[in-house]
Amino acid sequence: MSFQLFGLPVSRGVAIGRAVLVSSSRIDVAHYFVPVADVGHEIGRLRDARNAVVDELTALQADLPDDAPAELSALLDVHLMLLNDESLELATKQWIEDRCYNAEWALSAQFEVLARQFDDMEDDYLRERKADVEQVVERLLRAMARGSPALIDVAAKPAGADAHNEPLVLVANDIAPADMLHFKRTVFAGFVTDVGGTTSHTAIVARSLDIPAVVGAREGSRVIRQDDLVVIDGDAGLVIVNPSDIVLEEYRFRQRQRDVERQRLSRLRNTPAVTLDGEPVEMLANIELPGDAAAAVAAGAVGVGLYRSEFLFMNRAGELPGEDEQFEAYRAVVQAMNGMPVTIRTVDVGADKPLDRMSINELRHEHALNPALGLRAIRWSLSEPAMFRQQIRAILRASAFGKVKLLVPMLAHVGEAKQTLEAIARAKQQLIDAGKPFTDVEVGAMIEVPAAALVLPSLLKLFDFVSLGTNDLIQYTLAIDRGDESVAHLYDPWHPAVLQLIESVIRQARKAGKAVSVCGEMAGDAAFTEVLLAMGLRSFSMHPSQIASVKQIILRANSKRLLPLIEGAFRSDDVWVGCDRLRAAAAGRALPELQPAS
Ligand code: PEP
Ligand code: MG
Repeated sequence: MSFQLFGLPVSRGVAIGRAVLVSSSRIDVAHYFVPVADVGHEIGRLRDARNAVVDELTALQADLPDDAPAELSALLDVHLMLLNDESLELATKQWIEDRCYNAEWALSAQFEVLARQFDDMEDDYLRERKADVEQVVERLLRAMARGSPALIDVAAKPAGADAHNEPLVLVANDIAPADMLHFKRTVFAGFVTDVGGTTSHTAIVARSLDIPAVVGAREGSRVIRQDDLVVIDGDAGLVIVNPSDIVLEEYRFRQRQRDVERQRLSRLRNTPAVTLDGEPVEMLANIELPGDAAAAVAAGAVGVGLYRSEFLFMNRAGELPGEDEQFEAYRAVVQAMNGMPVTIRTVDVGADKPLDRMSINELRHEHALNPALGLRAIRWSLSEPAMFRQQIRAILRASAFGKVKLLVPMLAHVGEAKQTLEAIARAKQQLIDAGKPFTDVEVGAMIEVPAAALVLPSLLKLFDFVSLGTNDLIQYTLAIDRGDESVAHLYDPWHPAVLQLIESVIRQARKAGKAVSVCGEMAGDAAFTEVLLAMGLRSFSMHPSQIASVKQIILRANSKRLLPLIEGAFRSDDVWVGCDRLRAAAAGRALPELQPAS
């Protein structure tokens, strides 16, 4: 049956593939294809795991004390029975043989199929048996992790088609941002999640993968079945399940067109970004992992404008990276950028980027209060002074290998700024005392809380540069949780309050002679390029995959074209109408003349 789902577009393009359903709790299971020659080895791993778990459970049963509750023994019986059941073992084997899935993936895929069958059962008792299957699957996965190793280097597997030459798309209720990173260099051609907003960190990471994605598709993971044919329209936020031949052909055509367009744009890689009226523009990259620096260079970035260091801190079961580990990661980026500047943002955990693995759903339940307003980013760093100085030392040490800038997230108070600068001074002294080299590092403030934008002059006195984090600036100005799909329609970058704050930060920074850039998602959104240029912005930082299309607009733009509209909008007595006109003009549409304010 064909049907459509509407969500939020987060990563452009069209993906067509078979659905692979992954539950949030098993998202970290490795997904890769085994070569046909290794299928036997993979089935062997499954068999060994099964035998190990059978032995484990049989031993447990034999050791049960006489007074153990009868339910316990009955439970072990059920688990042993499931291990012998064809619907688990044979069907899992089938995924390996037919699809060349690795054993863990095959087992999770089969679990998803069984879980659906249990969910559909009328009988309460039978429905609850799903938990038993889940426990058995967990045991098998653990046994596989202990047992004979996989033959494949997961990271080395290219994205692409499965053994049947059909691409795969991942469908999940929710994916935590750090887990999304697992999907770099894996087999999936697209993503659909039930929850999330367009600037949730999961969406941002999906965009950095440059793979079509739709979030906030609500019922997606419930109504899409394993192996359904799915079209993801990442431009429209549309998911079409089991499309008709005509629809499929239309989307295949669009896919081909996009490939051609991409190739055409890639020729701009080495072209300097200069507007028609001769204004040079700096095109920087946002990265999450040291390995992303290569993509930044390949896309023609002239530096890294935002390195989100927090991804090094996440999903480590409470053990944070030490100074040397951080230093190695930062140095790797600095060296890969080969003399170009690298802006390392100090850790920004909290809100939708928890330190430990947690999905948005879990966050909602565990932190009913308001994590976006809580101990996140610089607030967390200042509450952990030793950890913070350790990170600063690691960043400073990387500066001995190239040009490093240090960026501080989420400042709202001048007191936080001063404390941060004191921490940097102390870290420098510690390095001097230890005889460890570092060079001059510019320090910048992220302007992403309206309060910071409103007291900008005092921050400009303390910092060398500022970077506008528009994702959070919009979230905090409009009081809209950027990760919550239920209010996503109110998350509006065109809101006059947002545009006025951005314009005033750019204007004041330039007037004070301080460098200013935008590193939020607006920088990579071609709809805003001319608006930001007219506001005076000359430094944009975005995902490497967005650089070419934004550069194309810059090359064709006159940096002042929208200036009268911006000035007119902010001066008019109906700023909404003014901003609508600006939006229409930015999109190349004309609207009637605006009445001047009386
Ligand atoms: C922002 O808020 O715009 C930003 C760049 O930081 P992050 O998206 O990581 O919060
Ligand atoms: Mg931010």
